[in-house]
Amino acid sequence: MLDNPSIVIKDLSVSYTNESQLAIEKVSLEIPSSKLVGILGPNGAGKSTLIKAIVGILKPNEGLINIVDNNYTIAYIPQKENIDWHFPISVMEVALMGTYKTKGYFGRLNQIDKKNATKYLAQVGMDAYKYRKISDLSGGQQQRVFIARALLQEPDIFLLDEPFSGVDMKTQALIIDILQKLASNGKTVIIVHHDLQTVNKYFDWVVMINKQVITSAPTKVAFIEENIQKTYYTFQN
Ligand code: ADP
Ligand code: MG
Repeated sequence: MLDNPSIVIKDLSVSYTNESQLAIEKVSLEIPSSKLVGILGPNGAGKSTLIKAIVGILKPNEGLINIVDNNYTIAYIPQKENIDWHFPISVMEVALMGTYKTKGYFGRLNQIDKKNATKYLAQVGMDAYKYRKISDLSGGQQQRVFIARALLQEPDIFLLDEPFSGVDMKTQALIIDILQKLASNGKTVIIVHHDLQTVNKYFDWVVMINKQVITSAPTKVAFIEENIQKTYYTFQN
């Protein structure tokens, strides 16, 4: 039990309507704020399903998700494969989508929004690319723009689904640095992560899942050989 969890999940099971199998089963977790939290597990483990259930895109079959502060706001960056990269839209426009949530889609964007968008694009080193098409950028640059958009939302909770796949190490370091500062300021930051080499370096806390929770604990305690074996090399059904 955590003193001050930011998200409490109890016995959460989720399935897809066209599937009889559960994608995640009886997941119980407490997610801390003020820490960089990594979610680890093999392909098909239910990492994206868990994130989508927290965002509210997927409805639980059973169980509860309690976001402790009910005035929370969430910024969610989906897994890359689920983004339409050919949409003809500029970097600035992508960043400004970060304001739609508070203003509504038809709210007028004002100079302040544009100034803020520029500020956050500068923070991720992308202000010089404002008028480029998002489709013309590298994977790392695209991910920086999505981070800027999330920052512009100024949310309490960041949910990032594999933000580092196909992203260069320099960009990863820059993004981790920004997220670490947000966590230090009390935000909740949850990152689905693929690369086991960088787990110790990036995360304060890890959740390891394979349909069910294997462990949720500080990285030093959780990310040990025994749990890696259980998570990646044990078949769950
Ligand atoms: P991960 O993100 O850990 O790779 P997912 O959450 O995407 O895993 O998937 C968990 C399980 O749910 C997998 O067995 C996957 O095939 C299934 N699944 C994911 N998305 C869908 C969907 N839209 N329809 C049916 N099954 C799905
Ligand atoms: Mg996934």
